[in-house]
Amino acid sequence: RAKKMIDKIKELMYKPERIRNMGIVAHIDHGKTTLSDNLLAGAGMISEELAGRQLYLDFDEQERERGITINAASVSMVHEYKGKEYLINLIDTPGHVDFGGEVTRAMRAVDGVIVVVDAVEGVMPQTETVLRQALRENVKPVLFINKVDRLIRELEVTPEEMQKRLLKVITEVNKLIKVMKPEKYNEWKLDVTNGSVAFGSALYNWAVSVPSMKETGVGFKEVYEYLQSDDWKTLAKKSPLHVVVLDMVVKHLPSPIEAQKERIRTIWKGDINSKVGQAMLNCDPKGPVALMITKIVADPHAGEIAVGRLFSGTLKPGMDLYIIDRKTKNRVQTVGLFMGPKRVEVEEVPAGNIVAVVGLRDAAAGSTCTSVEDMEPFESIQHFSEPVVTMAIEAKNPRDLPKLIEVLRKLAKEDPTLQVTLNEETGEHLISGMGELHLEVKVEKIRREYGLEVVTSPPIVVFRETVTTTSPVVEGKSPNKHNRFYIVVEPCPPEVIRVFKEGLIDLRKTDKSTKRKILTEAGLSGEEAAGVQEYFEGNIFVDVTKGLQYLNETMELILEGFRDAMRAGPLAREPCMGLKVKLVDAKLHEDAVHRGPAQVIPAVRSAIFAAMLQAKPTLLEPYQKVFITVPQDMLGNVTRELQGRRGQILEINTEGDMVTIVAKAPVKEMFGFAGAIRSATSGKAIWSTEFAGFEPVPPNLVEEFIMEVRKRKGLKLEIPKPEDFLS
Ligand code: GDP
Repeated sequence: RAKKMIDKIKELMYKPERIRNMGIVAHIDHGKTTLSDNLLAGAGMISEELAGRQLYLDFDEQERERGITINAASVSMVHEYKGKEYLINLIDTPGHVDFGGEVTRAMRAVDGVIVVVDAVEGVMPQTETVLRQALRENVKPVLFINKVDRLIRELEVTPEEMQKRLLKVITEVNKLIKVMKPEKYNEWKLDVTNGSVAFGSALYNWAVSVPSMKETGVGFKEVYEYLQSDDWKTLAKKSPLHVVVLDMVVKHLPSPIEAQKERIRTIWKGDINSKVGQAMLNCDPKGPVALMITKIVADPHAGEIAVGRLFSGTLKPGMDLYIIDRKTKNRVQTVGLFMGPKRVEVEEVPAGNIVAVVGLRDAAAGSTCTSVEDMEPFESIQHFSEPVVTMAIEAKNPRDLPKLIEVLRKLAKEDPTLQVTLNEETGEHLISGMGELHLEVKVEKIRREYGLEVVTSPPIVVFRETVTTTSPVVEGKSPNKHNRFYIVVEPCPPEVIRVFKEGLIDLRKTDKSTKRKILTEAGLSGEEAAGVQEYFEGNIFVDVTKGLQYLNETMELILEGFRDAMRAGPLAREPCMGLKVKLVDAKLHEDAVHRGPAQVIPAVRSAIFAAMLQAKPTLLEPYQKVFITVPQDMLGNVTRELQGRRGQILEINTEGDMVTIVAKAPVKEMFGFAGAIRSATSGKAIWSTEFAGFEPVPPNLVEEFIMEVRKRKGLKLEIPKPEDFLS
């Protein structure tokens, strides 16, 4: 039977019009994992006994325990619709916002998504976040309203009320599509009558849609009656989940042929008329190979496996591919497809498929792998969160240090939102990620998968250093006194930072007038807009000097000094954010020998530090939004717990016996919240968090926090003065 299935998949991979590459996105706990499992089981790709109980998509043991799908892995199934078979590739996407980077990456490889919404809870903040990510990537949504059984069992709604509630969910999702993707609204609007919406119960294996009702004769009234008599088994037989949902997928989500025509321009900015551009547009198996890696997974037998979407060409073992972002070339050893969750090696894989490749050892998530030496890489993937929490990590046995370094390198490669750095002051390795949970999961992985005993420090929040006013002009001298840089530091308009962060302009490529228009609209003067030299991690460097000799040839070193200063500021050696650093004048030695790196870099850095210290510097700290749902009588416990953590309650919504609290709190105060909220609510709370950006530390706490960080880093226990940097 397995052999027959492999043969089917091998046949279908050559018929891109019969392929659907899709993902499932949802707010946490709305049922994404259950739906994935039961679709696979229904399609006969895993045994039905295993599904549901064993949470098949969560191969990671720890994932299973935590009930959170962390690693996006691809699974494939075959589905028959109107007498034809289709290959459906499902990329599992994590539901926890701490792993937002992986959701975004997975979106690159799919052409459509099933948005899952809990019928009782309705559209939640994360539904909005994940839907936005899909729409930004030009990925088409369909809707599955899950847990419909709860409406009757728990809320005992009437048929009219049930219809009203379902309609409300659809209306809300449509509202989001309209706001986020107005140009596609007419085409992508969810519509019960055409079958782009289905509802049912992933857990009890049934679903219905308007087309399914016509086909099976099981109408709304019958559904209501089955549910009322708790006879979901008959319902599941008459109107099975996988049939209804996968029919919806086949009918409403685009094939790679259709999708690539539209999507390539969103994810790739190269010349669309080039050979590779046309090949991708047409999903051409005879064209050059263009593969985008979405994930690296570690396989105990095969080693590192790169999983990605093949947009054009045919991939075969023995091919040499350029890894564009790494400027290297790797040889493909094996290529594979997925059957259910298992990888099956095949002779070749043509365009339009999700492929698993062994041999691309330099590739990382996001890499462009291609047979075209100078191919423009795929647009880099934007991350919506940034690392805000750090911990120090050491091998228990110092002899394991080389192994630890190797494992950390691997983890960082699998997950680009994880940063690994060496603290030069203390010699410790630091891992930084998007939240406490994100780091905990990685540390568990090091222990279990690599069998490495490690010790970690408690998590620490990473602050940002910034300024609140404009500094005077500060002169920075090079150690040999032959070069001088005159620098002003001031707050950068947030809109300017946003323009760069979202990649709306590219300093190397965007033409002058567009650049000027966008930047002046965002808040820079015309002179500044013309002089922006660099954007670096939330800061900009602007050159407003006029016709200075030797400046051009020195600029790269000046920028190096700027980046150096931005990586670790003067207050506590934390990264800087929100700065506009302006070079207003400079004196440069005529002989290049006297203005080398050892002269220019420290002079620029010191001038920036001295200027920052005269511009009312302060710290910013990361905030989280917290969404907590609890039984009403526990509201008091939750608000007390939040208020003790400098939390601000933003909203309280009551729904039946349950109440949902939306609050905002500093990440620093949220450490240990998981345990605290569990004991404060006897484990009854359902909660999730979302990154909410940086905000100023309250003035009365700034000095305390600076000293805390300085102490930890072994720095002198006083705030530096401008004079310390001027000699
Ligand atoms: P995920 O976080 O979105 O992956 O959600 P899960 O699939 O892990 O489901 C979260 C919880 O909801 C689990 O306890 C499931 O058993 C439960 N669940 C999933 N689907 C349904 C459903 O259709 N009805 C009911 N009553 N519970 C469901």
